[in-house]
Amino acid sequence: MDILIVGAGIAGLRALYSLRGAGFDVRVAEASDELGGVWNHNRYPGARCDVESYDYSYSFSSELEQEWTWTERYPRQPEILSYLNHVADRFDLRKDITFNARATSADYDEEAARWNVAFEDGSRLSCRRLILCLGQLSAPKTPDYPGQERFRGETIVSAQWPRREIDFRGKRVGIIGTGSSGMQMTPVIAEVAERVTVFQRTANYSVPAANAPLTDEEIHEVKANYAARREMTRNSPTGLGFQPGKVRTLDVDPQEREKVFEAAYNRYGFGFALAYPDILLDPEANAVASEFLRRKIGERVNDPEVRAKLLPVTHGFGTRRPTVDSGYYEAFNRGNVELADIRATPIVEFTETGIRTAEKDYPLDFIIYATGFDALTGALLKPRITGRHGLTLKEKWARGPITQLGLGTAGFPNLLIVGGPGSPTVLSNVMVSTELQVDWLTDLMKTLRAEGIEEIEVSPEAEQAWNAHVAERVSETLYMTADSFYNGGEVKGKPRVFMPYSGGVRHYRRLLETCATGGYSGFELRKTPLARTEEVRDAR
Ligand code: NAP
Repeated sequence: MDILIVGAGIAGLRALYSLRGAGFDVRVAEASDELGGVWNHNRYPGARCDVESYDYSYSFSSELEQEWTWTERYPRQPEILSYLNHVADRFDLRKDITFNARATSADYDEEAARWNVAFEDGSRLSCRRLILCLGQLSAPKTPDYPGQERFRGETIVSAQWPRREIDFRGKRVGIIGTGSSGMQMTPVIAEVAERVTVFQRTANYSVPAANAPLTDEEIHEVKANYAARREMTRNSPTGLGFQPGKVRTLDVDPQEREKVFEAAYNRYGFGFALAYPDILLDPEANAVASEFLRRKIGERVNDPEVRAKLLPVTHGFGTRRPTVDSGYYEAFNRGNVELADIRATPIVEFTETGIRTAEKDYPLDFIIYATGFDALTGALLKPRITGRHGLTLKEKWARGPITQLGLGTAGFPNLLIVGGPGSPTVLSNVMVSTELQVDWLTDLMKTLRAEGIEEIEVSPEAEQAWNAHVAERVSETLYMTADSFYNGGEVKGKPRVFMPYSGGVRHYRRLLETCATGGYSGFELRKTPLARTEEVRDAR
């Protein structure tokens, strides 16, 4: 096999399509029995994407763009999963995917310049190049409270949602976590449950989704102008279908600013951060935007005590991933939703019948962990990946990930990563950044084939320089003022290092082009693998 792709989510499917189209002998190994990655696993009630459906779709086929019709502005999880299945069927991708194949280790054979990959069921595969498409937010993390095993009700992880129907009617449901997942599921579960208790550690900023069914006119407008829209997203900082404002927040008089904020709030979802270009750069601008949002959140909650607890005060807007919700705050105006502020009164333990906080006991039938992910590196470090001289990726990245353009790391030849740390990934519309990377990788693979390159490896100098650039760009922003899944600060023991590239999709795209036109600068391309060169043999 020329190429093994691990993971059949958005990135893996796209990579399979492109690389097979370029004539490579390529296969995908997928741990699940279904494709779709996070959209296969996150089946919780209310799960939907907070990027607009028509932008959260592949751009590689205009026939696909015209054939597929999204029904809502922000698509639900089942619709996205149907879309990905449609893509797989439409382009006959399934025949090259092995399901139920969880990679547990990958070892680089330096002499052969090949990867040997082992799977949970004991099977093995050998490939020339290994492409990891494991997802950015795909390794769920769950809390560790005393007595968890005692709880006699059902415990569910939002990112490993069971496929069976779960009947919350008449049940008491505890939801731990108030990120996108917790906020999305709360109002939906509250519609049927007897009681929902939201256990909040950190109040987060959320902007209403302004979701709606797409009208025929909107669909026509998007389909008629798809090429231009795609070009705009590729040239935007975030891969979203709108550009940031041009004037600085504080250069505008307060009345005008209020109008701009109001318009962005009512239309853009988390693109609210782009209302002005300096909201994530200038602390004062950020304070003004954060205050606007606190006011808006306050207006949505009736009870003054609950309102006060829901107002985010620990960090500035956007420094942690904000959310886009459909009726989250209003859910607290129902009689059956309560807020447990576990920052003020922490969870002490789980009991047989529920959760005990420092304040009181909450009797529960279900406990849902909407507690997020070991982001960006979690899934990449799960299999034991061993490169040159027996060094594992976990050892190499012990003080934080280090990459060249997010695509690879020195000491791990012929290993490439899509959506990894060091790339725009979670700071972008991942559809756009994924497609950019996959197109680039496909060209790279064609070059390697044409030039008879057996081994490609990131140079240590290049990755040092790239990490310095990633750090420099983030130092211009406010991202490091909060602990978040962007910097690992919210995972115990994880190095606090900003992982995604904050320089924007457009700039990243240019850097990819420069790298390619410079003969893949920062990568060493070898016709003879290093281990087989005379210098290395002599040195041995
Ligand atoms: P998240 O944003 O990381 O939120 C996790 C929540 O769990 C936070 O409120 C966190 O509190 C809380 N938490 C974590 N550990 C806890 C503990 N031990 N005890 C109590 N609370 C704990 O995770 P998420 O909601 O799953 O979303 C993650 C990301 O996935 C999103 O930002 C987004 O990128 C993606 N996502 C997207 C969509 C979508 O619409 N496209 C939907 C779902 C998810 P602290 O804040 O105090 O750490």
